[in-house]
Amino acid sequence: MDIRRHVPRTDVVLADPRLAAAIDRLGRTMVKSAVADAQQRARAGEIEPARVADAAVAALPAGAATLRPVINATGVLLHTNLGRAPLSAAARTAMTDAAGCTDVEYDLATGTRGPRGRGAVQALLAACPPAAAAHVVNNNAAALVLAATALAAGREIVISRGEMVEIGDGFRIPDLLVSTGARLREVGTTNRTTRADYAAALGPETGFVLKVHPSNFRIEGFTAEAGVAELAGLGVPVVADLGSGLLAPEPLLPDEPDAATTLSAGAALVTASGDKLLGGPQAGLLLGEEEIVTRLRRHPLARALRVDKTALAALEATLRGPEPPVTRALRAGADGLRHRAEQLAKELTARGVDVPVVDAAATVGGGGAPGVTLPSAALALPAEHAGPLRAHGVVGRVDHGRLLLDLRAVDPADDHLLREAVLAVTRDAAPDLRKGR
Ligand SMILES: *Cc1c(COP(=O)(O)O)cnc(C)c1O
Repeated sequence: MDIRRHVPRTDVVLADPRLAAAIDRLGRTMVKSAVADAQQRARAGEIEPARVADAAVAALPAGAATLRPVINATGVLLHTNLGRAPLSAAARTAMTDAAGCTDVEYDLATGTRGPRGRGAVQALLAACPPAAAAHVVNNNAAALVLAATALAAGREIVISRGEMVEIGDGFRIPDLLVSTGARLREVGTTNRTTRADYAAALGPETGFVLKVHPSNFRIEGFTAEAGVAELAGLGVPVVADLGSGLLAPEPLLPDEPDAATTLSAGAALVTASGDKLLGGPQAGLLLGEEEIVTRLRRHPLARALRVDKTALAALEATLRGPEPPVTRALRAGADGLRHRAEQLAKELTARGVDVPVVDAAATVGGGGAPGVTLPSAALALPAEHAGPLRAHGVVGRVDHGRLLLDLRAVDPADDHLLREAVLAVTRDAAPDLRKGR
């Protein structure tokens, strides 16, 4: 008998209410292709013809995009590969609300064009009173490119040899600056640069002095650095790339620069990321003197670096709304983290899986505070579980042959998901892998 006759036709399969709903969520093309694959498997005898709709439903992703939510159990608060700062519920809502048509560049009172993203700009100025003006672009790299282009193209940016930073994935700030047509005037040495070094390099060609926060490394020992306050008196604008996005001092990270202090010390402009310690969406923040910010905003390149409306909404909600997840993770007490880990271990034991709780050291990550460790607590599993857990969307860190699931960067509301993922992988594992280490 020809089995093909029994494979249901596409229109019959698509009448399944689960697939009809999936078309609304994912679009017809994706659903039809899943159905075609399932029909093919039925023709090949791999599945029962009656199960074609089930197989198509099982093969469909949860959403139309391939980006998958993950749980960051790496102990690195700001993990660039995992999307850096997770947004607060308030920021997520603001983002969704702005996703349709919105008055991002429109004045509803007058019915005319309005300044783009004024709400986010006002929130920034409220959070950082020493800033006279602010502008938001796509990310901090874009903020630097805009500043270099508008203030120093064809001229010189004076920068210390100790601040020639590679930010990650092979991208280097000096290369970024030179790509704008500015020339770098390097001063000082890797470990020591003084005010006199800067002063000697200034001249008619100077666009500005740039201070770059060494956000992912530290120089220790015989060192010297000229601060913004010392350089502000030199008669040229001082631009400071802060990286981390702190607007005000954070007592837990005393060495991390913030916009308010840096501007009060005399910087003309600061640049920073929105998705690092600020805890918001990807964005580049420019705060500083009115005249300079206006020049940047009006520069033709500003249009090419324009920030998305949903990012503006999330940024404003991050600034005005409740404490973002990154701040909560940063400030979490070690005892509370230990308690969460022990609670998880207890629940796992009750279901037949023994996983030890260990002390761990979390870090802020490439986004700031190099060298700072934050006491944390982790579940320790055999390293062999790392891959299967990633398949469940849980990313841990392998340390001395063990897989640590560090709770500091995990949203407490996700603890149960972490627990279920651990249960799923330990249940599937060979018996000798079932115990933690
Ligand atoms: C992270 C960082 C950047 C790049 O910021 P993006 O928002 O990722 O473009 C630039 N400078 C410093 C000092 C940084 O830490």
